Amino acid sequence: MCLTCAAKLLPGISEALRSARAALPPAAVDHHLHIQGPDVTAELRRRVALSPETFAIFNAGLFQTRTGADALEALDAAGIEQGVLLSMAYTFASHRSTVEPADVAALTRRENQFNVDAAAGSGSRLRTFIGVNPFWQGALDELNFWAGDEGVTGLKLHMGNSGFDWRSNDHIERLGMVFSIAQGMRWPVIIHARGDGDYGEGETKGFIERVLPQAGDTLVQIAHAGGGGGIDEGVLSALDLYADAIEQGAPGTRQLIFDLAVVLVRDTTDPVNASLLERFVKLARRIGLSRFVIGSDWPSLLPPLEHNELSESQIDFTDDEWRLVLANRAAYMNERHH
Ligand SMILES: [Zn+2]
Repeated sequence: MCLTCAAKLLPGISEALRSARAALPPAAVDHHLHIQGPDVTAELRRRVALSPETFAIFNAGLFQTRTGADALEALDAAGIEQGVLLSMAYTFASHRSTVEPADVAALTRRENQFNVDAAAGSGSRLRTFIGVNPFWQGALDELNFWAGDEGVTGLKLHMGNSGFDWRSNDHIERLGMVFSIAQGMRWPVIIHARGDGDYGEGETKGFIERVLPQAGDTLVQIAHAGGGGGIDEGVLSALDLYADAIEQGAPGTRQLIFDLAVVLVRDTTDPVNASLLERFVKLARRIGLSRFVIGSDWPSLLPPLEHNELSESQIDFTDDEWRLVLANRAAYMNERHH
């Protein structure tokens, strides 16, 4: 999630009203989970120490090391068979990082390895997307290291964490190059596309017109349905642009999918939120519900069980539509694996 999104959404949401739809089955797959090795834990704790007020709202679980076994336990509690680990290795090359530049490469590698090992030890229940800051000078070395590794399912990019500036030609070109490398390696890409700045139409347009075409027919999963957690005007206008692009058959959209991680509002009794949710449902239907997959972003907000109950209570799909979304499996879950 992004920090500003979290500040708007987190306080009190775990007490939000949940009316689980008892008739619905569990999700087949959680497409958005985060474990973390001891290095990420240490880094996050250093950042908390520097700025306690910024992090006060976050779930304490975020500041503890979590293993593949912990992820499986969270999935078991929700009756979910499989999950996707999104490595947070990009944490170290972030503009917010506290580590020495000379240590970034080794820390990035170790965190990706931690995630790859977790999936390898999961009996095919977990998949791993390695993480890298695409604008970091060591990014290409890291991608090359993992090329052809059977333990890697795909690549996770986080624009908020990576200091993405969509107005910068260098950034747009660099991002496009990383998408084209991913295509060459046959890696799907999961991207938290929303940067940290103002989130206007230009950002999504630039992404759709100048970056996505470099992905070719690679599957691209837009995290948080185009936002950074929560639903606001920025998310809806991004989805509207994605819907246009899909309708026009724009390059890179053939296998474009969206995860529902933390696509939630804090209080549904607020009429502004109720209207945002209603418009979200319309846009999701326009894009097509076969393109929406379940993800919880565990542990940022709630465990998968509670997260999905909250989604089902807030997003007013019909029961049949929910059944379809809950059963959706991204194509990468079915490809080559151990
Ligand atoms: Zn996430």
